Amino acid sequence: MKHLFTLLMKTSSQLQRVCSKGLTSIILTISALLITNVPIQAQNSSIPSPESILGFKVGADFKLASYEESLDYFQKLEASSDLIELQYAGKTSEDRSWYYAVISSKENLANIKRYKEISQLLAHPEKLSVAQAKALAQEGKPIVHIDGGLHAIEVAGAQHTLSLAHYLLTHTEDKKVKDILDNVILLLWPSLNPDGQDIVVNWYKEHVGTPYEAAPIPWLYQKYIDHDNNRDAYMVNMIESRNITRIWREWEPNIIHVHHQSSPFPTRIWLPPFAEPVATRTPPLVAREVNMIGMAIAQELETQGLAGAVHMGKGFDAWYPGYIDYLPVLQNIPAYWTETALYRYATPYFYTLKDFSTDRKGFRIESLYSSPWKGGWWRYLYANGIHSSIKLCRKIFKSAFIQ
Ligand SMILES: [Zn+2]
Repeated sequence: MKHLFTLLMKTSSQLQRVCSKGLTSIILTISALLITNVPIQAQNSSIPSPESILGFKVGADFKLASYEESLDYFQKLEASSDLIELQYAGKTSEDRSWYYAVISSKENLANIKRYKEISQLLAHPEKLSVAQAKALAQEGKPIVHIDGGLHAIEVAGAQHTLSLAHYLLTHTEDKKVKDILDNVILLLWPSLNPDGQDIVVNWYKEHVGTPYEAAPIPWLYQKYIDHDNNRDAYMVNMIESRNITRIWREWEPNIIHVHHQSSPFPTRIWLPPFAEPVATRTPPLVAREVNMIGMAIAQELETQGLAGAVHMGKGFDAWYPGYIDYLPVLQNIPAYWTETALYRYATPYFYTLKDFSTDRKGFRIESLYSSPWKGGWWRYLYANGIHSSIKLCRKIFKSAFIQ
């Protein structure tokens, strides 16, 4: 076992060096692309925008897309573009049909069987020589998992997947997007909890504009375990956990990014490095990669003038092996979650100094909180959450290249 672990580490390190050629520039390109403040202009008018199908802009105040609406949109994308293919993930606890999207260049999708084979070989490299591993790394494409989250009341993640897919499929003439499509295989899950997305969104639609608009939802948003759907990874009791982990074994992704939305107030986004303690068997190289990704995202946010990114802290440690977005680290995959800020659902809120605790009212700069957020309007996704999420995606793609 120890030998295998050493070999895995060694191979990962070698592959990292092999694959890093010229990739930094691609990563920077991807980041710059998704961080733009310019309204998105589709370059391919035959591909429907989310707005044209949903009847509202993704991220608009008081508006959310249910999973049913989201899946309908993704199916329309698949029907209108040859850069996206939907894959069946299985049934959910409440018997919904569950899909994820594979997005990449036409050539990569045509060759997907070979790329999956390479991914398997590199994930299980016991019989590979260094030369063989290097050759496979050269031939293969990094596989990146990004999803809409599994805590359904944290609504931004699932909404942002609609915009991200549309952007990638309609900006193919943009060199930055082309670089992504040519060099990454993206597994984009509209949601890791389709049941919950429908439950929460339908409840919100029913109560928006009433005195109960911001009230907590009285139902479980996962049939059996609600919020503890992210405590199930070590025993995979839920069908959703089983489907996700089975599909991860099928693809062996190089990066897994799961969206959450509980950044501790007043921070606007929490990013790795994780808080202490971390699991004792965390592979050191993978831990370093996760740290690097979190820091790179924060740097990019600062570059774009977006304040409020924070790391570590006290809440988000990586000790517990039941987090589905951390357990893969123990399987030698850089995996992590991020937490953007949330008020309630799609309802905006204006924060003033009265909302800040005494120790935060001075806006003191901290080592890992370089640009304290000072209040004002917070919109769940359009102005902030999705903006951040899309930016993050660029950095993630870049990191995949570095790997
Ligand atoms: Zn969460």
